[in-house]
Amino acid sequence: MFVSDLRHFLDLPDDAPGPARKMADHLSNIVRAATAVPAGASWVSALPCRRRPERRPCPGRMSLCRLDVPARIEWHCTTCDDDGVISGWEGSHFDLRAPGSAAAPPSAVEIPVSDEVLAALRDLLLLDAACERLVYRARASEAGAVLTADEAGLEELVGFVAAEANHEPNRRRQQRLDHAYEVLSDALEAMSPSPPREH
Ligand SMILES: [Zn+2]
Repeated sequence: MFVSDLRHFLDLPDDAPGPARKMADHLSNIVRAATAVPAGASWVSALPCRRRPERRPCPGRMSLCRLDVPARIEWHCTTCDDDGVISGWEGSHFDLRAPGSAAAPPSAVEIPVSDEVLAALRDLLLLDAACERLVYRARASEAGAVLTADEAGLEELVGFVAAEANHEPNRRRQQRLDHAYEVLSDALEAMSPSPPREH
C-alpha cells in the first residue's frame, strides 16, 4: 500500500524526476475526485490506473473512499493490486470540498463521455470550483465515463471549453477541445429540447 502525504508532492522543483511528477499528478487527481463528492461512501471514479504492466496501461479505474474525521483518502485500482492512502490534502489547492453537499444537483442527468473527452476536461486550466467538481466526480462506465450535470452546470462547463479552445495555440490540443465542445454541446442540446412550435 502506498501511504503518502500530499504535502510532500506539492510544489515539486522544476528538476524533479518524471516519476515523481507523474505520482504528484496521480495523487492530486485522486484528491480532486475524492473531494468532489460527499464523504463516506466508496465509488469507482473514471480516473485511470497509473500502472503499465507489460507496457500497456492497466485498464483499471480508481475506486475511492474519503473520510473527513480523521481526514483520509483511500484508493485502489479495480483491476490490479495498486492501492494507497493519502493524508495532508485538506485545505490544499486540490481539495474541492464545498460547504454543504457536493453531490450532483437533483435535476442532474448522466452524460456519457469517452476517456479522451474526460482527459481534455481534466486538462482545462480555467475551471471554477463548481465545474471542477463536475469533471472530477465523473464515474467509470463500461464505455468510458459518465458525467452528472444539470443544464446550468453543463452550460457553464461548455462555456469554459469554448473559451479555452479559442485561446489554445497548440493545434492538437485545440482539436481535442473542439471535440469535447461538440460532445458536450450535443448533450446540452438534448437536455433542452426546442419549445413546441406555435400554431
Ligand atoms: Zn491498475
